Amino acid sequence: MWGIIATWRMAAEGISEASEILANHGDAGDAIETAIKAVEDFEYYKSVGYGGLPNEEMEVELDAAFMDGDTFDMGAVAAIKDFANPISIARRLSQEKVNSMLVAEGAEKFAHKEGFERKNMLTERAKIHFKNRMKEVREQEIKPYSGHDTVGMVCLDEFGKMTSATSTSGLFMKKKGRVGDSPIVGSGFYVDSQVGGASATGLGEDLMKGCISYEIVRLMKEGMHPQAACEKAVCDLDRELKQRRGKAGDLSLIAMNHKGEWGVATNIEGFSFAVATALQEPTVYLTKMIDGKCVHEVASQEWLDQYMKTRMAPLEEK
Ligand code: ASP
Repeated sequence: MWGIIATWRMAAEGISEASEILANHGDAGDAIETAIKAVEDFEYYKSVGYGGLPNEEMEVELDAAFMDGDTFDMGAVAAIKDFANPISIARRLSQEKVNSMLVAEGAEKFAHKEGFERKNMLTERAKIHFKNRMKEVREQEIKPYSGHDTVGMVCLDEFGKMTSATSTSGLFMKKKGRVGDSPIVGSGFYVDSQVGGASATGLGEDLMKGCISYEIVRLMKEGMHPQAACEKAVCDLDRELKQRRGKAGDLSLIAMNHKGEWGVATNIEGFSFAVATALQEPTVYLTKMIDGKCVHEVASQEWLDQYMKTRMAPLEEK
């Protein structure tokens, strides 16, 4: 058995590439890195890699992580600037025994020494988004923290190895140096090849309060199906946050176990995800929670076309 599952529709092309690798007896580390790179490289996805939206100083600071579920090797970069593929740097760092999570200049120095590709990650399109948002913020006093989405994945190869990885530009208009859940082990991602893995997207500050990816893996270890584990973890954290703090931020989780069974849960409307396994062609789903249960629906061709059209539509300065 092999399989790969990822947050958001934007992962679909990457998932397809990864499924080719996995179907041809490839490695879960290579497959997941290839899939995440595809998302990082596509400039019209404005929350990951090239084309990602900047922080409040108009700089694109990226977070990414990689974990190997056989060895628990884990590497991460946070608030890194001017490198094309943060996921590859995170994977490279996962081979280090110490110093495997690096931030900002430290991460950039390491990436430079290791010969990773430098690139200005701020696109003209992202600059227009930034300027428009500045104008809106001035005029309407809306909250700047919207327009984010992390690509997070869990992958299983034919040999039983599992990996998990994330990549994101974090929250649009975040403070310089702000780090979300995505590069934080146990919150943005976790994987144990003997059990399964999980990955998160949503409001990092709230996802971290539940160490939610680890919690899902823990529930799967107790015998829960990935779907039940995701629903329980998301509902519990959503409820706790509302009880203690009056509100809960966006929480969306994907998971897969070592048998290739998968699950997804969210507390928002319109969460999409992509999945492919030895038994299932790459498929994009839309999901919503109804009375604590998530209902997944295959995305229609019309929805998929519309999605790309909106992402790539010409953008003008307001
Ligand atoms: N979780 C990410 C962060 O807080 C953003 C997202 O997934 O939308 O940085």
